[in-house]
Amino acid sequence: MIRIRKCVVDGCKSDVGSKTSRWPHDPRVSDVWLDTLKPYCSGLMGLPRYRLREKVVCLKHFEPKSFTRGRRHYMAVPSLFTAEEISSGKPKYENFHSMHAKWDHDYAKKIPLRCSK
Ligand SMILES: [Zn+2]
Repeated sequence: MIRIRKCVVDGCKSDVGSKTSRWPHDPRVSDVWLDTLKPYCSGLMGLPRYRLREKVVCLKHFEPKSFTRGRRHYMAVPSLFTAEEISSGKPKYENFHSMHAKWDHDYAKKIPLRCSK
């Protein structure tokens, strides 16, 4: 049986069973998700790291460019939270991209060959 999980974004009215993405296992990607999502997801407050992995975010919170042939990019970060952002497919804050573009860049340089954990 498929376990149905509800999207962690506050006020998200997705139907139960809509397509979701699981919380990233990579701790560095997880940290970026947490920083990005915290203001929009009261359910994340005070959660220990391992519990984050129980959380899902529906795919509609990702920009269309976050996908290649229907698969979410490994480092894609949800950026669409309001109805307006979701319908336009663009985040409200213009600096959202530059912020994450910078992170993507640094991240690519720092990524170790194997997980240090
Ligand atoms: Zn959602």
